[in-house]
Amino acid sequence: MAHPVVEQETVYRGIPASPGIAIAPVHVVARGFSAPDVYEIGEAEVPGEQERFLRAVQRTKRQLVELQQRLDNLSGGGEGGIFEAHAMMLEDKSVIERVTKAIASRLQNAEFAYYAVMQTFLEAMRRVPDPFLRERTADIEDVAQRVLHNFQPDSDASHPAPDGRHILIAYDVPPSEVATMARRHVAGFASEQGSVNSHAAILARAFGTPAVVGIEGAVIGVRALTPAILDGYSGTLILHPTPATLERYRRLDEQKASVRSRIESERGKATDTLDGRALTVSANIELVEELAIVRHSGAKGVGLYRTEFLLLNGGEMPGEDQQAAAYSKVAAELAPHTVTIRTLDAGGDKLPVEPLTEPEPNPFLGWRGVRVSLARPAMFREQVRAVLRASAHGKIALMFPMISGLSEVLLCKDVVSRCMEELDREGVRFDESLPVGVMIEVPATALCADLIAPEVDFFSIGTNDLIQYTVAADRVNPHVADLYRPTHPAVVRLMKRTVDAAAANGIPTAVCGEMAGDVRFTPLLIGLGVEELSVGPQQVSEVGQAVRSLSYAECAAMSDEALKLGRSAAVLELCLSLAGKRYPDLLE
Ligand code: PEP
Ligand code: MG
Repeated sequence: MAHPVVEQETVYRGIPASPGIAIAPVHVVARGFSAPDVYEIGEAEVPGEQERFLRAVQRTKRQLVELQQRLDNLSGGGEGGIFEAHAMMLEDKSVIERVTKAIASRLQNAEFAYYAVMQTFLEAMRRVPDPFLRERTADIEDVAQRVLHNFQPDSDASHPAPDGRHILIAYDVPPSEVATMARRHVAGFASEQGSVNSHAAILARAFGTPAVVGIEGAVIGVRALTPAILDGYSGTLILHPTPATLERYRRLDEQKASVRSRIESERGKATDTLDGRALTVSANIELVEELAIVRHSGAKGVGLYRTEFLLLNGGEMPGEDQQAAAYSKVAAELAPHTVTIRTLDAGGDKLPVEPLTEPEPNPFLGWRGVRVSLARPAMFREQVRAVLRASAHGKIALMFPMISGLSEVLLCKDVVSRCMEELDREGVRFDESLPVGVMIEVPATALCADLIAPEVDFFSIGTNDLIQYTVAADRVNPHVADLYRPTHPAVVRLMKRTVDAAAANGIPTAVCGEMAGDVRFTPLLIGLGVEELSVGPQQVSEVGQAVRSLSYAECAAMSDEALKLGRSAAVLELCLSLAGKRYPDLLE
C-alpha cells in the first residue's frame, strides 16, 4: 500500500517574467520527460515494485520491436534500426540493476526510482565532451519517457500532461510552446532557465500567461500534480499552499483584476502628456493570432512585428505570397494605424533559419538578425517584396534588426530599392514612400546614430538587446540578471545620443524593447524625447495612462538630472519618485 508523504508549504523564488496568478496542480517536464509521482513503500512491497519495473521494461520492448517492424515495412530500408538501438538502451544491464537496487534501498515506488536513475545518467551524458555521445541523450530521453508511461498500462503515451488546468514546470520553455499554452490548459509556467527579456517571457506577457523564470532546482525538486500557486508578480512558486495562503492569493487576484478593469476602462483614449506632447502607444506582436488582443488593447498600430515567429511552425520562412498575405492582413485590420514590420531576426534565443552544422558558442553575438538576411539574398528579397506588396493594403513601415553600422544600412536600402524597381516593372502596387527605419540595439549603432539618421526615416530602440550588449550581460541568463539594468547610465546616454541624432535629422525615435512597457521608465523615455512607445498588448492601457499623467516638461527636467547620475539605482530612484507622484496605483 502507498503511504503519501505529508507535505508542508514550500516557496521557490525566481524572477517575475509575466504578471498574473495561477492556482493549479503542477506538471513537471524534466528536459524531455515528465517527473512521476513519488511515494514511500514498505519493505514487503519491494519485490512487487521491482516486478512492476520489469514489466514496464518488457512492455516497452514489445512496443519498440513492433515500431521497428512497422517502420521497416514502410520504408523497406532498415530505418527501423533506430528502435533496435532504443531496445538495446532499454535493456542496459547496469540500468536494470541500479533501478532494482534503488527500489530496495530507498523504499520508493518503481517509476520514481527509474526516473531518478535515468536523470543522473542523463546529467552525466550531457557533460561528456564528445558531441556524438551527447546527442544520444535525446534517444535515451525518448526511451525513458516511454518506460515511464508504461508503468500505467492504460496510459496514453502521447498525452503526458494532465487534461485540466495546470502549472507547467520545465527546465526551459521554448518560445514556440508559449503561443499554444492556453489551448493546452497551461495556467502559467515556471522555468529554471530564461529571464524577463527572453522571447518566451515576452510571449507570455503578450498572451497574459503568468510566468516565473530562473527558479533553480524546481524541476528535480517538485513532484507531479502537487497543488501550487504561481505568482507572476513577485516571481514565486508556492507548493502545497496552506488555506490561509490560498485565501490571500485569491484576494490579491481579485484586487489586481479590479485595477486592471479600471485601467482598461480608459482604453483607446488619446495619449498626450498633460502639457500636450503627443506620444504614440503602439503594440508589439509576434503572431497574427495576437491581432484581436491588439485591437482590443486600443493600441495605435504596431510598432514592432517580429516576423521571425513565422518560422515557428517549420524550419523555413513561408514563401513570398504567404508572407504578403500575413502582412496584408495585419496592415488592413489595423489601418489607418501604422504597422512596423521588422525583417527576420532569427538566431539568438529564437529559432535559427536553417540548422547550423556547429552550435554557435555565443549565439547572441553570432549569426542573427540582418546578418542572416544579408547572407541569404533570395530569402531577404522575398521578405522585402512581401512587405512592399502588403503596403498597398494599409500603412506599413519597414525596419531592420541588429544593425551594427552604416554599411549594413546601405546594403538593406539597396535591397529595398531593387525590390521596388522589380515590382514597378511587374506592375504591382506598393507604397512608394514606405518609411524605412532601423533598430538601434547595438551600442556601435547608437554611437554612430548621427551617421545613420540621414539615411533612414525613423529609429526604433530595441532596449532588450541594447542593454545586454552595453553591459555585456546575456538577456536570458538568470545568473547575470542583476547586471542587466535598463537604467544603467551607459544605456541612458546611448538612448539620449540616439534621440538627439534623430531629432537633428528630423526623424522620430520609438522604443520597442520591454523597457517601453514598464511604467517605471515612462518618465525617463518621455523626457529623453522618445515619440513612440511600442509595448506588449497587455501593457498598452497602463502605459497610456502613465503618459496622460505626466508632463513632458517635468520628464525632460528629470531625464536631464538622470544623465548626470553615476549609478543605475540612482537613476531608477529618480524615475520612481516622479512615477510614484503621478501614478502610484500603477506601480503597486
Ligand atoms: C529588442 O532587442 O529590444 C527588441 C525589441 O528586439 P527582440 O526582443 O526581438 O530582440
Ligand atoms: Mg532585439
